[in-house]
Amino acid sequence: MGDVRQEDFARLKLERDRLARAVAELQAALAAARAQHEDLLSSLQDAVIVVSPVGVVVLWNPAAEELLKVSASSAVGKAFDQVLPQAEALGELLVKALAAGRSYADFEAPLVRPDGARVTVSAVASILAGAGGEPRGAVLALRDVSRLRELEETLRRSDRLAALGQMAAGVAHEVRNPLVGIRAAAQFLEGDPAFTPGLREYTGVIIREVDRLNAIVEDLLAFASPKPVQFAPCNLNQVLEETLAVKGAALAAAGITVARIYDPQLPPILGDPPRLHQVFLNLLRNAAEAMPGGGALTVRTRFERLSARLGGRAAAVAEVADAGPGVPPDRVPHLFNPFFTTKPRGTGLGLAISLRIVEDHGGAIEVAPGAGRGATFAVVLPLAPAAGEAPDG
Ligand code: ADP
Ligand code: MG
Repeated sequence: MGDVRQEDFARLKLERDRLARAVAELQAALAAARAQHEDLLSSLQDAVIVVSPVGVVVLWNPAAEELLKVSASSAVGKAFDQVLPQAEALGELLVKALAAGRSYADFEAPLVRPDGARVTVSAVASILAGAGGEPRGAVLALRDVSRLRELEETLRRSDRLAALGQMAAGVAHEVRNPLVGIRAAAQFLEGDPAFTPGLREYTGVIIREVDRLNAIVEDLLAFASPKPVQFAPCNLNQVLEETLAVKGAALAAAGITVARIYDPQLPPILGDPPRLHQVFLNLLRNAAEAMPGGGALTVRTRFERLSARLGGRAAAVAEVADAGPGVPPDRVPHLFNPFFTTKPRGTGLGLAISLRIVEDHGGAIEVAPGAGRGATFAVVLPLAPAAGEAPDG
C-alpha cells in the first residue's frame, strides 16, 4: 500500500477530477432535465397526475390544481381515492392500468370535485415503467370536456333549427297569401248589402282566427329567417323599460304588478334594441301566462364580472321572474325547442326565437325553473368592448 508510485497517484488524481467533473455535469444535466420536465408539466394544458403502484399521489401539476380545484400540496402523499372520493371512474382506470400494465382511456368520465361541481373529463391512464420495465406507478392525463359537450349540444341544436327553419319558412310563405284572401273575403261578406247581421258571429270567428294564424306565421318567419343583428351600444335597463312601456298596460289589466330592480351602474352592451324587445316581450308574455290570475312580476338587471355562461367574460344580465307555478324539472330540457308548448293555443316558438336572438348577440339564457315557486329567465349578454364605451361624437 505504501508503495503507490508517484505516477499512479497522479493518474488517480486525474481520474478523480474527471469523475468529479462528470458527476457535476450529470447533476447539472439532471437539474436541467428536472426543470425542463417541471416546466413542461406546469405549462401543459392537460391535468397530469402521477400515482405510485399502490395509488398514492406523487405528482399533481398546476393544470390538475386548476381543473380539480385541489392544490398539489394537499394532494401529494395521499391516496388518490382519498383526494377525489367522487371520481370512481378515474380510480377504476388507474387500478385497471396498474393491474394490466397497459393504458386505458375514458373519453367521458364524470366526477364530482371536492367543491361539489360536476365535471366531465376525458382521461387516459398509462403505466410509468422503470428502467427494467417494472411498473413504477401510473400517469393520469385529464382534460375538461364539459364545455366541449355544451358546445356540441349547441351545434346540434342549431343544425336542427336550421333544418326546421327552412321547412317552417316554406310552409309560412305558402299559408300567408291565402290567409290574406280569406280575411278579405270575410270582410267583403260583412260589407255586402245582402249580408244577414246574424251571420256576423261567424265572420267574426273567421277574422279572429285568421289574425291568430297570421301571428303564428309571423312568429314562424321570425324564427325561420331571422334578420341580421344591427349592433349598437345600448343600455339594458333602457331596453327593458321600453319593452315594459309597450306591454305595461296589458300587464296591469291582467292584474300583474311589476317590480323593477335595476342596477344603475350597468355597463352598456352591444345590442339590437328592436330584437331585444322581442326577447323581453316573449319573456314577459310567458310570465303573464304563467300567472293567469295575476301576481307579482320582477324585472331585475345586474352586472356579472365573471360569467361562466360566457366563458368567464363580463356580462350584463336581465332577469324576468314570475310567481307562477315554475317549470317541472323534466320539462326544462325542452323549453327552448321550437314548437314545444304546454299551452292549448301556444306556438312553442317564443323561447326558441328568444334564444336565437340572444345567441346572435353572443349571449345565453339561463332558467331557474323554480318548480312550485315561480320561474326566472335570465338573459346574459356580453358587455360592449371598452372602445365601444367611449362617447361618440
Ligand atoms: P309558448 O308560450 O307558445 O308555449 P314558448 O316557447 O314561449 O312557447 O314557451 C314554451 C313552454 O315553456 C311553455 O308552453 C311553458 O310550458 C314553458 N314556459 C315558458 N315560460 C314559462 C314560465 N314563465 N313559467 C312556466 N312555464 C313556462
Ligand atoms: Mg311564449
